[in-house]
Amino acid sequence: MFNTNEIREFQQLETPFYYYDLALLKRTLDKYTANLKKYNYHAHYALKANANERILQIIRSYGLGADCVSGNEVALALKSGFDPSMVVYAGVGKSDKEIKMALEGDIFSFNCESVPELEIINSIASSMGKVASVSLRINPDIDAHTHKYISTGRSQDKFGISTWMFQDVIDTIHKCQNLKLVGLHFHVGSQITDMKVFEMLAKRVNEIQRWFFDNGIVIENINLGGGLGIDYENPDKNPVSDFDTYFSIINKGLEVRGGQHIHFEPGRTIVAQCGTLISRVLYVKIGKGKKFAILDAGMNDLIRPALYQAKHKIDNLTSKGRNMRYDVVGPVCESSDRFGKNILLPETKRGDICAIKSAGAYGQVMAMKYNQRDLALEYYSEEL
Ligand SMILES: *Cc1c(COP(=O)(O)O)cnc(C)c1O
Repeated sequence: MFNTNEIREFQQLETPFYYYDLALLKRTLDKYTANLKKYNYHAHYALKANANERILQIIRSYGLGADCVSGNEVALALKSGFDPSMVVYAGVGKSDKEIKMALEGDIFSFNCESVPELEIINSIASSMGKVASVSLRINPDIDAHTHKYISTGRSQDKFGISTWMFQDVIDTIHKCQNLKLVGLHFHVGSQITDMKVFEMLAKRVNEIQRWFFDNGIVIENINLGGGLGIDYENPDKNPVSDFDTYFSIINKGLEVRGGQHIHFEPGRTIVAQCGTLISRVLYVKIGKGKKFAILDAGMNDLIRPALYQAKHKIDNLTSKGRNMRYDVVGPVCESSDRFGKNILLPETKRGDICAIKSAGAYGQVMAMKYNQRDLALEYYSEEL
């Protein structure tokens, strides 16, 4: 919800732009870190969800580490002051250059996804006279019941090491003198709202770590990844995810052995609700049996609806007319440039200000200049 001062400010500014509510970000982090403290868990924020400097600094100030999926994210995390001993680096396709950079940065762990990757990291580490700390990203073959493009833990997905590869992986680690195995890593998908998935994950992790212990391998760190979903339908009612239930399910289900550290990699659940894409209505166009509300924000600013069929709540902040249905679309020359179909909005006209909610994660970071459009600027609540 925005107050009248904010809405008045929005009307003065050039649109579209991202608006971040830093008070909500802090409230979210307060709740999240209270749970970390309660269970003595560690967290690494997934930079790919939102890498704006202001946001990174707040997250870092709460003591979170960084979860990176590219060499440039590792470099950004280090430059932004995240402690290298709290930086983890995942990804199925790490290039030699990226591996070198991360080795130079002395990060906590490479989360490795295949045998050939382990071999390359070993040989690069050896040529640099270093020992690389590696964790195995396991594919536990769990369906996260989320959109197929954001499921990552099923056997048909490209991510992780499947159980049938374990022996081969262990043989490789024993052979590679410049690798040190420090943990197991799991990340089964994103926008997971069915808590049973995490119950299942904990159970699978217990089975899998038992296999490693039975084979004489001590696992010091277990990283359960991110993936906790947010409420895209009712962001005003549920601005903060149910961290209490999430962590208590994990705590109840997971068998933790002596000396083990448990890690998480939250992305969306930290930053999604604090970000909104603010846009102006350019035209209302009468189509066949429907009305189009044409915004000045497009799929190049926020691609989630086009990419994942994501539904973001849309509010008209400046109209008080009676409710009507609109297809809310952007100006980009693609039919998939649509934020919503048959959306109920108060009667909408040119110049109205619309808010596309819950856009803080995988929004601005994915923006592009398609159609040679300018990139949207961002503003923070404390600036207005
Ligand atoms: C994207 C990603 C995350 C964060 O996922 P969210 O669903 O945003 O919490 C965590 N870990 C890894 C390895 C990722 O790729």
